[in-house]
Amino acid sequence: MDLFEYQARDLFAKHGVPVLAGEVIDTPEAARQVTAELGGRAVVKAQVKTGGRGKAGGVKLAADPDDAVEKAGQILGMDIKGHTVHKVMLAQTADIADEYYVSYLLDRANRTFLAMASVEGGMDIEEVAATKPEALARIPVDANEGVTEAKAREIVEAARFPAEITDQVVDVLQSLWTVFVKEDALLVEVNPLVKTAEGKVLALDGKVSLDANAEFRQPDHVAFEDKAAANPLEAAAKAKGLNYVKLDGQVGIIGNGAGLVMSTLDVVAYAGEKHSAVKPANFLDIGGGASADVMANGLEIILGDPDVRSVFVNVFGGITACDAVANGIVQALELLKSKGEDVTKPLVVRLDGNNAELGRKILSDANHPLVEQVDTMDGAADRAAELAAK
Ligand code: GDP
Ligand code: MN
Repeated sequence: MDLFEYQARDLFAKHGVPVLAGEVIDTPEAARQVTAELGGRAVVKAQVKTGGRGKAGGVKLAADPDDAVEKAGQILGMDIKGHTVHKVMLAQTADIADEYYVSYLLDRANRTFLAMASVEGGMDIEEVAATKPEALARIPVDANEGVTEAKAREIVEAARFPAEITDQVVDVLQSLWTVFVKEDALLVEVNPLVKTAEGKVLALDGKVSLDANAEFRQPDHVAFEDKAAANPLEAAAKAKGLNYVKLDGQVGIIGNGAGLVMSTLDVVAYAGEKHSAVKPANFLDIGGGASADVMANGLEIILGDPDVRSVFVNVFGGITACDAVANGIVQALELLKSKGEDVTKPLVVRLDGNNAELGRKILSDANHPLVEQVDTMDGAADRAAELAAK
């Protein structure tokens, strides 16, 4: 889960990374009072989960409270790379003498953590990495040792931070590591880390990405969820313990097991090339079990997506045999009908594996007008794509 800058800033403050005071607002008028409280001047910053806000006009300095109202009015509602600005953060202004970059991230390829630092911060760090790789220090961080004072000094030296701020940057690097570990982050990034005219080091912008796998031990992180932005069907699926992902095509996909679902996406996309370029609309993994309840919940969510024009149910019977899955489908269709949510879109079902014959017979006997069976995965994908293209 990616956080907004103001949320990252709160986590920085909690663990001792120096930041400036700030407050989030969602109406221009609210900027007047807040700016007065911040000392009469403020930097007005769009809160969107994308970088490059400065270049896009989403970061503006306000000279006084009236100016802040005007700048907030300009930024609220702005579109930055497809993200609408619903909130702005007003923060105390800093008199910037120099801008740097520091981050920690999980380096999957090298199976370690990685610290990156550069004295060429502020701008696009990707560009620094591409055009002047020697200006971006990369130091592996051992998971068990973490960023000790010695490790922090190693990073500072490798990035060649100016001598007069070495101790401050060492402190920041250690506090930032605490954020990374204590909050179960996958990424923490400060760009820019600045030196002010008075020589103080501050984190002026923060990016944090939290590890969703650690949710169970991070109860406070629930508050960071952006409910307004969450897809309602994804939220409903999550509440029912189902793995559902929204895509942008027309064929709804239900399968059992992550591997089968992934390959189903591929065969549907491939089959779709022959049928008006239809693509998967979403996918839902019902996991190992496929009880009537699970199947009904799954179908309800998949059919609730208005983009779906046909559904492909692809099941390989293993521990849960195909007859149980077929019964689940039949009962799910009845359950939905009794709830007044009768199925109105065609379903293509492919059953294979344990007890496939029996499962197919159960579906044939049920004889639902919108359910078709195709025995092979490729054939079923083709039929589902054809129906979606109609
Ligand atoms: P980003 O463009 O989305 O990464 O947004 P940042 O928060 O990094 O802001 C972009 C740039 O605005 C920074 O690199 C700074 O140069 C500038 N900026 C941000 N806050 C302040 C501030 O308080 N004072 C001044 N003078 N400039 C600021
Ligand atoms: Mn930035």
